[in-house]
Amino acid sequence: MKCIECGKGRMLRKTARTSHEVRGIKFEVEGKVLVCPQCGFQAIPADLLSEHGRLVDEGYREAAGLLSADEILAARKSLGLNQLEFAKYLGVGEASVKRWELGALQDKSSDDLIRLKTDPAYAQKNLEEVCRRLGRPISKVPQQVECLA
Ligand SMILES: [Zn+2]
Repeated sequence: MKCIECGKGRMLRKTARTSHEVRGIKFEVEGKVLVCPQCGFQAIPADLLSEHGRLVDEGYREAAGLLSADEILAARKSLGLNQLEFAKYLGVGEASVKRWELGALQDKSSDDLIRLKTDPAYAQKNLEEVCRRLGRPISKVPQQVECLA
């Protein structure tokens, strides 16, 4: 395949890092691309577009500190809930849970909600932050409610 940019080079398949910006966050992902050895132009092979899209979504999740699709699935299963029960527990639509577990990007507020309602350590950190913001002392006595591993 000839380069559509310079028309001279023959595009070669190689693994390379590509730069992306999603929702204002810049990051790079490594994946298979077509590169022109003449001008350096890069393109994503048509047969790898959906795979590349998944890589970009995962890269964004990592850069933005969001749970991965697998982590959301694992969080739900750790509570022993099916998708409908989990959706009701979170107060969101079942379709949202299905989409997230298939790889659709959750927004930051949904990510927070999932963590708060599935991760005791995150909920504990949140409690401490709420107390701090309210200007109230934090008690760390051993009798406090704790969720043991
Ligand atoms: Zn070229």
